[in-house]
Amino acid sequence: MQLETLYAALDNVESGMLILNSCLRAVYCNSAILKIFHSHRTPAMLREQKPHYKELLEEAAQIREGRRLHYDRSAPALSSVEMEDYVARRLEWVRSGDSKPVDLRMNNGTILRCKLSVLPEGGRMLVYSEITDIVDHARELGRLATTDGMTGICNRRHFLTLANREWVRALRCNTPLTLMVLDIDNFKAINDRFGHQIGDEVIIHLANLANHAKREIDVIARIGGEEFALLVPQTAAHEAQIMAERLRKQVSETPLSARHANIASTISIGVAERSDEMVSFSQLMNAADMALYEAKRSGRDRVVCATASMGDGRKKAKPSGCNEPFIEAESIV
Ligand code: GH3
Ligand code: MG
Ligand code: MG
Repeated sequence: MQLETLYAALDNVESGMLILNSCLRAVYCNSAILKIFHSHRTPAMLREQKPHYKELLEEAAQIREGRRLHYDRSAPALSSVEMEDYVARRLEWVRSGDSKPVDLRMNNGTILRCKLSVLPEGGRMLVYSEITDIVDHARELGRLATTDGMTGICNRRHFLTLANREWVRALRCNTPLTLMVLDIDNFKAINDRFGHQIGDEVIIHLANLANHAKREIDVIARIGGEEFALLVPQTAAHEAQIMAERLRKQVSETPLSARHANIASTISIGVAERSDEMVSFSQLMNAADMALYEAKRSGRDRVVCATASMGDGRKKAKPSGCNEPFIEAESIV
C-alpha cells in the first residue's frame, strides 16, 4: 500500500495519533491530533517541520513565550500558572515511556485518554481518544447504583456500605456512633385517603426535611418504602435524641402542600448508639429497629432511644421524655 493511502486512511480515525522520534520530535500525526493540539499545521506540514512535542504542548496550552495568548475552552482545564507545570509533567511522562494511560480533562469538560507506547529505536507513539461519554456514563451508573430514584438520597445498599465504613471508623477511633431509624406513621391511611401519588410526595417531603436537617457528616438513606435511616457519626445517643426530637417536631409541624390540601404526617424514630457488646452494624440496626418498634407501640409521633445493652440480640427501649422505668413490650419476641 502507498504511504499516502495509509496517511489518508489514518486521517479518518477518530482518535488522535502522534509519532515522535527518539528526540521527541513529531514525525507523523493524523488530522484528529491537530484539532486536539490546536495546531495551525496540516499533517503534511508537521511531517516536514518536525516540531518538538514540547512545542505542540505549548501550542495546545496557549502559553508560548511564557504566557497564555488567549483563553481556549478546549485547552486542558488548568489555570495559566499551572500550564507550564502541566507541559513539564506531560513531557516527563512521554520521556518515561510509562504505558499507564493518562486521562486529561479539558476546560470544555471533554476527557481525553492518552496512551503511550515506546517504539523501536526510542520513538514514542501517542494515541488520544475522547472518553467523555464513557466517563459520564460510568459516573451516572455509579449515581444510579447508590441513590434512591424517588428521593435522590442514598439507597439501602449504599447506606449499608457507608454505615459499615463508619462502624469501622468508630471502632478504630473509639468515637460514638448513633443510628436513627424513621418510619412514617399510619402511612397506609395516607395512601388510602389521598392515593399512591400523594403518598410518594409525602415520602419525598420527608426525605427533603431529613436531608436538610442532617449535618454534613451524617448519612441519610431511604431503606424501605417509607422508612429512612439517619446515621450520625461522632454523636452519642442523648445528643442524637435531641436531633431526632427536633426533626420529629418539624415533620409534624410541616405538612406537605399538595394540589388540593395540606397533608399532615408524623414520624416515629428509633435511636440506638453503638455499644462495645455489638459486633456488627446489623446489631446496631436491630437495636434502632427495636426502639422504633417501641415508639410505634407506645403511641407513634415520638422518639424512642434504645437503652439496655445487647443481650440475646434484643434491645429494651425507653420513649424520650419518659421518666418511668420502661417495661419491655410483650410483643417483642
Ligand atoms: P405504622 O405507623 O405502623 O408505620 O403504619 P403504616 O401504615 O405506615 O404501616 P407500614 O409502615 O407497615 O406501611 C407502609 C406502607 O407504605 C405499606 C405500603 O403500601 C406503603 N408503601 C411502601 N412503599 C411505598 C411507596 O414507594 N410509595 C407509596 N405511596 N407507598 C408505599
Ligand atoms: Mg409506617
Ligand atoms: Mg414502614
